[in-house]
Amino acid sequence: MNFLEERILKDGVVKEGNVLKVDSFLNHQLDVELFDKMGEEFARRFEGKEINKILTIEASGIGIAVAVARHFNNCPVVFAKKTRSINLDGDMYMAEVESFTHKNINNVIVSKKFLSSDDKLLIIDDFLANGCALQGLIQIAMEAGAEVEGIGIAIEKGFQVGGRTIRNLGYQLESLAIIDGMDATTGTVTFRPQ
Ligand code: 5GP
Repeated sequence: MNFLEERILKDGVVKEGNVLKVDSFLNHQLDVELFDKMGEEFARRFEGKEINKILTIEASGIGIAVAVARHFNNCPVVFAKKTRSINLDGDMYMAEVESFTHKNINNVIVSKKFLSSDDKLLIIDDFLANGCALQGLIQIAMEAGAEVEGIGIAIEKGFQVGGRTIRNLGYQLESLAIIDGMDATTGTVTFRPQ
């Protein structure tokens, strides 16, 4: 079992509706040392890839992405912003993302100033469930003509479709913990061996 799986078993709380709460170290209070270890592990898994920028989505992706960037030559981190209003003035890349946790649809935007066809991206996020957030980020990367060199996720819920969909598209998707099942009544979490 790796360091993140151990931490999930220790401090994660399984909620009804297939939601894992990890507020004490990943989503509200942030364990910086753990994030640093995650960065180290992503650097190992994506060794040899030419990555010059990290792309993530607000809010929970940002802290992880910053820690990960320290292990990729302190490359810049760009985060997609969530917005309800559509005031597109042509300077933004935009995608629609349905939120798994909030069940609403957000437009996510990235300024054209910060993504271009010169960029080789590592996409980082905290969770992968149905894959909507990732698909939005991939769409924005494609619009910019940027290359997606890899995708790093902290926690993938392997019993939801996102992981399979993204891997079927041919991307190198690395998830540090893949949950194959969880039970809100007993609080048990089962990991996919990797
Ligand atoms: P997806 O777009 O893949 O369906 O969902 C990914 C996003 O939903 C993540 O960025 C994360 O914020 C949120 N999310 C999905 N499942 C969970 C979960 O079980 N626990 C928490 N804390 N967030 C989740």
